[in-house]
Amino acid sequence: MVAAQSDYERTIAFCEAAVQRIRVHGHPAYPRNYELWYTYATGYNAALNRAINEALTRSAAISEADLDLLYETYLSPLRLSERVDSVGTRILAEIKEVAGVLRDARDKNGDYARTLERLAAETAGLGGLGDILGTIARNMLSATADMVERTKDLESQLANSQDEMQELHNALEVIRAESLTDPLTGLANRKFLQGTLDRSIADAAENGQRFSLLVVDIDHFKTFNDNYGHLTGDQVLRLVALALKQNVKGQDLAARFGGEEFAIILPDTALSGAAAVADRIRRAVMTKDLVKRSTGEHLGRITVSIGVSTWRRGDSAQTVVDRADRCMYAAKRNGRNMVVTEDDPRVAEDEFGRVA
Ligand code: GH3
Ligand code: MG
Ligand code: MG
Repeated sequence: MVAAQSDYERTIAFCEAAVQRIRVHGHPAYPRNYELWYTYATGYNAALNRAINEALTRSAAISEADLDLLYETYLSPLRLSERVDSVGTRILAEIKEVAGVLRDARDKNGDYARTLERLAAETAGLGGLGDILGTIARNMLSATADMVERTKDLESQLANSQDEMQELHNALEVIRAESLTDPLTGLANRKFLQGTLDRSIADAAENGQRFSLLVVDIDHFKTFNDNYGHLTGDQVLRLVALALKQNVKGQDLAARFGGEEFAIILPDTALSGAAAVADRIRRAVMTKDLVKRSTGEHLGRITVSIGVSTWRRGDSAQTVVDRADRCMYAAKRNGRNMVVTEDDPRVAEDEFGRVA
């Protein structure tokens, strides 16, 4: 009862501190934001507290985008699954080590048993002290045989644990893959893209290993949905996703950015190469003849507008995405069904062709 009471007081204090932070920063009191500030108040997650304190030192205000990033980095269930996974890997390693020790013990016991067998055989029929020695050797031999059996049992139990651990590992792998996949198209989702983009930025900054980014948006998709219905629209999203997949190479990452917008990261690719990939995708999409499966009705064609940016020193994930986005909008302004790269002067123009 006493423990429950002190738990009550302690957690209410954390709760009040969290709500206070939410008020001070003017954040919506979503469970996620609450969890973040509650965890901060407890101080249980040292890395999270360090990151928040650093952010507070840089600026008194913490934006919602900052909160998103903090949550993704320090609290999201995905991170949790990674942590569980790494614990699993350590346990597997331990099991393997213990199995090795047991195998050694069994081998040594085997050697020992053979020595005892020899002793029992050599002392057989000697009479007197020899008989006593033989009896001792046979008793020890039977105890050793028991030990060998028990060690074998232990080994097989360990082998079972190892199998179970491997199954858990595989299950976690499936959960992780699902949490990073867009269910409609089977492409990587935005979260996966964000993680890959962050890594690409870090690699580029460290080793100068450049990459390019395509932002692909379906043209007049709202009209298509209005004319043919959302379900048919969904089929088109799958078709465009397939065109993306079929026109990129192994290490490129195609993702659904959201709605009818996609993005592709092309590692080791300069702007001109990325523009060529983009144009291949554009042509692949526009040449598809859309036919409604249930009725055989021809639905015409669909086109995409694509913006292309390439990494520059000093870029963040956001700046590369923003540039590709601006290019994509320039493609929209200039007639759609088009690829625009970031060195195209039309990117800086507004809808009336004026340059700001
Ligand atoms: P624009 O050429 O300027 O890109 O025009 P748009 O109509 O494609 O763009 P807008 O942003 O006005 O509309 C996007 C539409 O995409 C709205 C919505 O109907 C559709 N959409 C977004 N997500 C989905 C989805 O998951 N399934 C379906 N079927 N449609 C979606
Ligand atoms: Mg669109
Ligand atoms: Mg759009």
